[in-house]
Amino acid sequence: NAPLNFAVMGNPIQHSYSPLLHSLFAKQAGLAINYEKMLVPLDGFEAAVQTFFSQGGKGLNITIPFKLRAYEQAKANLSRRAQSAGSVNTLWMEDGQLHGCNTDGIGMVNDIRRQGIALEDKKILLLGAGGAARGVVLPLLETGCRQLLIVNRTASKATALATQCLAELPQYTSVLSAGGFEHIQGQWDIVINATSSSLQQHALPLPAGLFAHNSLAYDMVYTPENDTPFLQQARQDGATMASDGLGMLVYQGSESFFIWNHVRINPVPVLETLRQQLLTG
Ligand code: NDP
Repeated sequence: NAPLNFAVMGNPIQHSYSPLLHSLFAKQAGLAINYEKMLVPLDGFEAAVQTFFSQGGKGLNITIPFKLRAYEQAKANLSRRAQSAGSVNTLWMEDGQLHGCNTDGIGMVNDIRRQGIALEDKKILLLGAGGAARGVVLPLLETGCRQLLIVNRTASKATALATQCLAELPQYTSVLSAGGFEHIQGQWDIVINATSSSLQQHALPLPAGLFAHNSLAYDMVYTPENDTPFLQQARQDGATMASDGLGMLVYQGSESFFIWNHVRINPVPVLETLRQQLLTG
């Protein structure tokens, strides 16, 4: 049998770990696949997607800066997760039509669960209101958390995000709220950094005593050593557990793999391999 063809499209794309991840998933599943990095010119994204599938491609991952354009291109057939995220990282063909999903949010939730943490009835603080924050709101609400507060440096973006989510999901009115960093009060079980502050080596203006007993600090940014400025700040301020976003990357990939191949693999050994690879350069 000829290998199944997959790719990740982005610009830049050199940094992507997706080919490595999917080759490890496929090995575990016993599937022969071919997964490439495709550097796509900024004016050629839609045509590149069409060409890929017309030549028999089975599935695409989409990364920066094309996730919004992938959403537009698959607008007729979006999953609920893609609709609520407002962006698409996974494309495939079904019944002759392009379909889109966003697996980032469920990837993060599953990575938190991997660490033995239940989200039901938890107080969750989400820092940031950009694309990454938007992508995790629906999967977080669906865990049955008690409270989800979105705070952002530009407070109006956090309130706009919450307003938009509540227009679609009014049943969460008593769970979801938003504001600026000065809105943070009390103690939180899970604090997620969905800002890019750690990439800029910036600390966030968080109040002292924020972390509840047995709390988790989660940074979507990842580093080889599972250590970012936010995680350092959180450990000093009493967070019990601290996790970077490498697992989110692996788990979002495993969800795409499932959509395309209908096979559930175990992401844990793949995460261990990737962590090791990052540490040894
Ligand atoms: P956006 O550019 O859409 O949003 C950036 C967000 O960060 C905004 O909320 C912005 O606030 C905030 N921000 C930036 N700098 C600071 C700062 N110094 N202090 C406080 N807030 C700041 O980016 P994305 O949402 O797409 O991505 C956010 C992060 O998540 C990135 O670092 C990315 O690497 C990571 N990520 C990780 C993934 C994974 O698989 N592990 C997947 C997706 C993203 P304001 O609105 O005020 O400007």
